[in-house]
Amino acid sequence: MDAILKNNIMNLSKHFTLEEMTRSMVAARRGIDNTPGAGDIKNLENLCYEVLEPIRAKFDKPISISSGYRSEALCEAIGSKKTSQHAQGCAVDFELNGVANIKVAYWLVNNVDFDQCILEYYKPDDGQAGWIHVSYNEKGDNRKQILTFDGKKYTNGFPDMKWKNGKVVE
Ligand SMILES: [Zn+2]
Repeated sequence: MDAILKNNIMNLSKHFTLEEMTRSMVAARRGIDNTPGAGDIKNLENLCYEVLEPIRAKFDKPISISSGYRSEALCEAIGSKKTSQHAQGCAVDFELNGVANIKVAYWLVNNVDFDQCILEYYKPDDGQAGWIHVSYNEKGDNRKQILTFDGKKYTNGFPDMKWKNGKVVE
């Protein structure tokens, strides 16, 4: 078990590994320990089962994870708050190649349980800009808070989807 955890090759769910949910270039470069504890791993598993797997199944495309778990040391190094849900393994930043983030975000909030979903660095004319931040707490403890961040300020809810030739602007 220790050897497996050391290499982080453990599968958290069918399509997601502990390795991709803990990977960090900053941690690798600076030699920062980004090993999650047992509770953090349980939270990451919930996030994979309850949120990421349904999205993977719906869009039938690989999900690229830019940041999952962040240890307190890593949070400090990148200037993120230690109270961030990333520090408990409850949050993940991701995107789907070739699918507008807003399209995925709308499906997510209408189809799965979640605590907070933020359309990060949203740009109206570029569906690929930014990423989706989503968090998940234990069942019954999810606020379903929806926010958009345009690089300057947070607003409640998501903007309307922009359509061109009968398709969402990707
Ligand atoms: Zn995030």
